[in-house]
Amino acid sequence: MKLKPALCVSALAMLFAMPARPQASSAPELPYSPSLNLTSMDKSIDPCVNLYQYSCGRWQQQNPIPPDQTSWSVYAKLYEDNLNFLRGILEQAATNTAQRDAVSQKIGDFYAACIDESAIEARGIDAIKPQLDAITRLKSVHDMASIIAQLQLNFSRSILFGGGSDQDPDNSEQIIASLDQGGLGLPDRDYYTKDDAKSKDTRERYVQHVQKIFELLGDNPETAKNNAQTVMRMETALANASLTQVERRDPYKLKNKMDLPALEKLTPNFDWQTYYTQLQYPKIAILNVTAPAFFKQVSAELASEPLENWKTYLRFHVADSSSPYLSANFVQENFDFYRKYLRGAKEMQPRWKRCVQYADRDLGEALGQAYVRKVFSPELKQSTLEMVKQIEAAMEQRIRQLDWMSPETKQQALVKLHGIRNKIGYPDKWRDYSSVTITRNDFIGDVNNAVAFEHRRDIAKIGKPVDRGEWDISPPTVDAYYNPQMNDINFPAGVLQPPLYDAKMDDAPNYGNTGGTIGHELTHGFDDEGSQFDAQGNLKNWWTKTDREKFDERTKCVSDQYSSYVVVDDVHINGKLTMGEDVADLGGEILAYIAWKSATKDKNLQPIDGLTPEQRFFIGYAQWDCANERPEDLRMRAQVDPHSPAQYRINGVVVNMPEFAQAFACKPGQPMVKPPEKVCRVW
Ligand SMILES: [Zn+2]
Repeated sequence: MKLKPALCVSALAMLFAMPARPQASSAPELPYSPSLNLTSMDKSIDPCVNLYQYSCGRWQQQNPIPPDQTSWSVYAKLYEDNLNFLRGILEQAATNTAQRDAVSQKIGDFYAACIDESAIEARGIDAIKPQLDAITRLKSVHDMASIIAQLQLNFSRSILFGGGSDQDPDNSEQIIASLDQGGLGLPDRDYYTKDDAKSKDTRERYVQHVQKIFELLGDNPETAKNNAQTVMRMETALANASLTQVERRDPYKLKNKMDLPALEKLTPNFDWQTYYTQLQYPKIAILNVTAPAFFKQVSAELASEPLENWKTYLRFHVADSSSPYLSANFVQENFDFYRKYLRGAKEMQPRWKRCVQYADRDLGEALGQAYVRKVFSPELKQSTLEMVKQIEAAMEQRIRQLDWMSPETKQQALVKLHGIRNKIGYPDKWRDYSSVTITRNDFIGDVNNAVAFEHRRDIAKIGKPVDRGEWDISPPTVDAYYNPQMNDINFPAGVLQPPLYDAKMDDAPNYGNTGGTIGHELTHGFDDEGSQFDAQGNLKNWWTKTDREKFDERTKCVSDQYSSYVVVDDVHINGKLTMGEDVADLGGEILAYIAWKSATKDKNLQPIDGLTPEQRFFIGYAQWDCANERPEDLRMRAQVDPHSPAQYRINGVVVNMPEFAQAFACKPGQPMVKPPEKVCRVW
């Protein structure tokens, strides 16, 4: 729904990929592991042949993917530690009901309701009966606007399409209504349109999954099969009218502002008045429609598909999106298709782990408060903020020194750099969940209420001043992001812990690792996408034509390099999809290197454990992303994830840094050394 792209350092949060650890959690502590770990390295490998394997080879051997995970990495392990810690907070809040404060009541009862499998089992599909009954009662296609409004309010999946608010792309001080494509059960529109054997197989398997959901709802197998075909046909038509992931990286393609009469003209068969009234939108003067062709298709389908088919479509999406919170047979089918078939997990995550993640997702700023108190001291905030400032100073230095950019564009780039807001650790003001009803005996009701709270909060922003202090992810999240419309960089407490940021370690690996992450987010403001927004967060060109052409040549160098890498089987990286992330990885590490050199210029750095400071910098960098990845997951991410696979995020960067070749005395012609004329540098 958001115009702003998710320019994060890792897709972990989106992909919901977490690990296994069986112990109880009575005394939660975050375990320590260092940001440069000698036992993770495979010193039998020559770093000039493969830095990633040299730095992470033994980590990979020692850390097989747990059966309940779709991939496994340093980030995933740290998030696992966070989940164990949060579990302790939740169990305590769920048990000690006598003297709880308001925050503990919400998170404790939410967790208690989630963990109570027998109550959920006993309720069966009665848990979604009100929604299913409302669908059954539908009298005409025209009446659908009302029910779609209600379902969208309560369900996090976009049902038919997505709606909410966003900053006006032309005026970031203003929040307007927005509409986006959606309505699909598979992860992306390409799953419906591609012709290769694997895509066809996935579609067949999806139709079986849809049929199974209808059977669980009580349809006989014959009816369920026909219903599944109907859903597939309707979704395929929506998919065909949807923008691709690569098209969605062009912010101008997503900018289509119009007023309500224009929307009604575009989509005459949908009752927008009823929809907006029911969702209590403020008066809408202008709204942004990210994908007009999609909405035209929605309108055409509303005219051509009979009411019965729409009831079928809605029944499926209500049940499918509710499956994780329903009885065991729904939970199992949801796992079998979405995590096992599509992403390769062998086992379901234990109940507690799923419940902690739902609480983090739905009540993150309530649950995150205790986490922050425990792990994020004012000293840690101060030292990481200091590092952010060092990286920003390095960026300023880089901009001033660029030999290909004109003084006019440099001036604008500096204005943008100086306009960036740094947000570290957690929000200054916590979100107030007091209006969300959470009870111990209605888990799906709790989830629906929490989703509705977020949706209402989003709608209520329209016409109000922008809240610059708002965060898009919770404090324990092991990730970071840049938001081009806010022009801010955001580093939650979860990503500033060992083995990422490690106060006990020397500067070199810390700058290589966390310095690189900070540089990555900062560079997003200046990648092929972020660089189209100005210092105020408006979609407004600040480049001279010639400078932009030179910039495009440089980003193409990166995209060509990554497109040559193989992900799995015959699937290559889609360098146009990953361009922004790859540019951010490269720019980030260059900035980290400059900042580290500058921060330590007066120190007499010595080798430690037989590694020079420069070598420790690059090993620290590589070890941020030690990972094992399943082929199924790699295949899915090649389609939907703008990040490249782990090994290329390391090796693909350092081949463009002569500083690396120098640190390890690599020779021309070795695999990790590019000929100088082929080296890519953007910033
Ligand atoms: Zn990123």
